Amino acid sequence: MLRVAVVGSGPSGVYTAQSLVEQTAVPGVRVHVLDRLPCPYGLVRYGVAPDHEKIKSLQGSLRTVLEHERVTFLGNVAVGGPPLTPERLLGLYHAVVYCVGAARDRRLGIPGEDLEGSRSATDFVSWYSAHPDAPAHRFALGGVRSAVVIGAGNVAVDVTRVLARDAEELRPTDVPARVLAAFAASRVREVHMVARRGPSQGRFTTKELRELGTLPAARVAVDPDDLAPDPAYADPAGLPAVNRRNVEVIRSWAQTGPPPGAADRSRTIRLRFHLRPVELLGRSGRVVGVRFERTVPDGTGGVRGTGVFEDIPADLVLRAVGYRGAAPEGLPFDPVRGTVPHAAGRVLRDGAPSPGEYVAGWIKRGPSGVIGTNRPCAKETAGSVLADAHLLARRAVAENPLAALRSWGLAPVGWAGWRSIERAEADLGRALGRGPVKIPDWPGLLAAAEPGA
Ligand code: NAP
Repeated sequence: MLRVAVVGSGPSGVYTAQSLVEQTAVPGVRVHVLDRLPCPYGLVRYGVAPDHEKIKSLQGSLRTVLEHERVTFLGNVAVGGPPLTPERLLGLYHAVVYCVGAARDRRLGIPGEDLEGSRSATDFVSWYSAHPDAPAHRFALGGVRSAVVIGAGNVAVDVTRVLARDAEELRPTDVPARVLAAFAASRVREVHMVARRGPSQGRFTTKELRELGTLPAARVAVDPDDLAPDPAYADPAGLPAVNRRNVEVIRSWAQTGPPPGAADRSRTIRLRFHLRPVELLGRSGRVVGVRFERTVPDGTGGVRGTGVFEDIPADLVLRAVGYRGAAPEGLPFDPVRGTVPHAAGRVLRDGAPSPGEYVAGWIKRGPSGVIGTNRPCAKETAGSVLADAHLLARRAVAENPLAALRSWGLAPVGWAGWRSIERAEADLGRALGRGPVKIPDWPGLLAAAEPGA
């Protein structure tokens, strides 16, 4: 009987497990889903914004897979480096599928990027999502009046929207008390979301963009001068549907001005275009602004600088310019693409498929697409595993992988442990007069996973 380890319990890992256990061509496949964290669901738990309850509810369908009789969740198991190298893991299972996402953020590579108050959007997302690796008090919003978000993808939209929210708007979500307290102290008045290209070239999706205009405490402002250089803004007919709809939304904001009641809203989201960051400005080691160079289209889809500069004041700068893959130590990695080299999900070592090793999700194809994009991607990889099943079944593997993991000093948190964490989070929320509230630190999570220990 084929035994497969899936490394990572985010959407790509869970969809891979699902594809493996819900098919009939190779009956009886068993899957262990390993995760570095004691909690499952990857970016659905630690990346999807807390105010996106509908996307968060996807956890329900991921849960069904992890509760399948031939699927076992093993949290708190880190793969890569000692004690659990990819080589060792391969000795425990007929096949290992790495679904480890793209954990690193990309950098801008401009002066001032490391000033205090300049952070990656990923850091901010991890902090408000209660990721146990995120330092507890990394973001104090009491001293922030103006924030600059660099980038025009859905992550930029997420952090812009969350920054423009009141603590009361976040209270019904599962953010930790310390995050609520930071938002209660927030003095944010302006959030500038700044794109280096034009409005027709935003990478955000229309639903997410439109949501910026629906916030109770913030209004959206667009400067018509920023839009003019983009020829597709005036004539969007030839654009792909999503870009065309984005242009329509931005145009409605630019033309109609603030909606009724907007004057009562204390915050302004300023959508800026055709500005590329050239330097973060600092005073006494802290960021005080960002210098941008105005850009114009270069005729090939990119932009070029004009030599005209604009400074935007900022007490907080979040760069939301994309993620980067990071492979577990011991796996081959293409540093240019930020992915593991593969053929239809089969990991390539020195150009040849490495027996038993596979990838799916962002570490396979790069950090793009929405959650659903992972389904066909996982299916392709699972298809390769199943096609190779006759060869994989001949690989000699350990009798009892769980015993081997424990013998190497690992202490996996199983499904019962995770359910126990969930109950503890519900109890914590109840004590605070809220719905479930996430436990934000390692000791708290591990204690909750084994309440009797
Ligand atoms: P993304 O979609 O790749 O967007 C990155 C943005 O950063 C682009 O606007 C890009 O501009 C800009 N950028 C890159 N380098 C830059 C630089 N040096 N200076 C200025 N701007 C720069 O990445 P993402 O926002 O991190 O999202 C990653 C994936 O997760 C996407 O597929 C996204 O849709 C998905 N996601 C979805 C949701 C949701 O569905 N609600 C939420 C979060 C994330 P150019 O276009 O000019 O390169």
